[in-house]
Amino acid sequence: MPSYQHPLVSRLPRVGTTIFTVMSRMAQECGAINLSQGFPDFNAEDVLFERVAHWMRTGNNQYAPMAGVAPLREAIAAKIAALYGMDYDVDSEITVTAGATQALFTAVAALVGPGDEVIVFEPVYDSYVPAIELQGGKVVRMRLAAPDYRPDWDAVRAAIGPRTRMIMINSPHNPTATVWSADDMNMLAALTRGTGIVVVSDEVYEHIVFDGLVHQSCACHPELAARSLIVSSFGKTYHITGWKVGYVVGPRELMTEFRKVHQFNVFTVNTPVQLALADYMGDASRHLGLAAFYQEKRDFFRAGLEGSRFELLPSAGTYFQLARYRAISDEPDVRFVERLTRDIGVAAIPVSAFFDNGLDERVVRFCFAKNEATLTAACERLRAV
Ligand code: PMP
Ligand code: GLN
Repeated sequence: MPSYQHPLVSRLPRVGTTIFTVMSRMAQECGAINLSQGFPDFNAEDVLFERVAHWMRTGNNQYAPMAGVAPLREAIAAKIAALYGMDYDVDSEITVTAGATQALFTAVAALVGPGDEVIVFEPVYDSYVPAIELQGGKVVRMRLAAPDYRPDWDAVRAAIGPRTRMIMINSPHNPTATVWSADDMNMLAALTRGTGIVVVSDEVYEHIVFDGLVHQSCACHPELAARSLIVSSFGKTYHITGWKVGYVVGPRELMTEFRKVHQFNVFTVNTPVQLALADYMGDASRHLGLAAFYQEKRDFFRAGLEGSRFELLPSAGTYFQLARYRAISDEPDVRFVERLTRDIGVAAIPVSAFFDNGLDERVVRFCFAKNEATLTAACERLRAV
């Protein structure tokens, strides 16, 4: 080897393979029931597939416009106006993305530069920190502490400074299944008032809130909406996580910067799928019915774990359920889920994976987006632990 060869230096030296891939693989190898990675084990409706086939057969198989097909952007605008009372311009303020992950990554790449500080709330969804660090941004972590995982707004106030470029929020929250209140949003608005801080609001579970709670979108709050890029995903809403289609909305000024990166990142997203989603969104009952649909699953899963030694934390939204296992074992959570997967036959996610320093509060996450038969079988095994 010539000695002048430029050595390879990892841009993400501390990053391994995402926990979702690790646990799903282990579940498969062990033949375990997979309640780890968040995805449904039931299918979407045939009518959605028929619409995709229709648009493919009628020749809609070439590049869509960079921002997404117009009917889908119109459907997104109509939904947001109806639910949250905010009007986004279809041409300049809505972009269809290859899932929420790409939207989040592109938002960070477009707006965060070296030395910029980005506030995140830990436990934090695993894609946020690598996206920030790849841009040379500095991650500022706020703790959401067990068992209630409420944000500490005094700590946020103290963390905001002249270098704060962005705050990334996520409600309903993965993995804690907590939901922010209108008061939380008012605090966020108050603390960012008079600053140039951009809020990136990950609202992929916007339609999955329980017990009559109302999702507090940044789009409900004009002051926040004016500084926010709001991200959502059709994967969660229509049971099609594998299709990887989502969207981002925000004021023109932010969207212009977002699209500068988006056009060279993915350029555009699957055309027939976008057209089919536009048709499918026309029936609002499909997203409006999601909360009741998943609340039933949450209740079924929790009832199935009654009499087990797991201590269930509240689940106010998302399709996740956190559980403490103190009464079962004092193993680290990574070890515990490995044993659960191998010996008990149920895979879960160790919540320490959502902490930079691996903080282990002996809590695991189960996904209950599953058929009743799957949940019944899993609960039977988990009750025996
Ligand atoms: N954000 C959160 C909080 C998520 O839970 C997920 C996926 N489950 C995503 C973003 C990514 O969504 P997508 O699959 O559309 O990329
Ligand atoms: N967001 C999903 C979860 O939390 C997983 C998505 C992924 O595997 N990247 O389980």
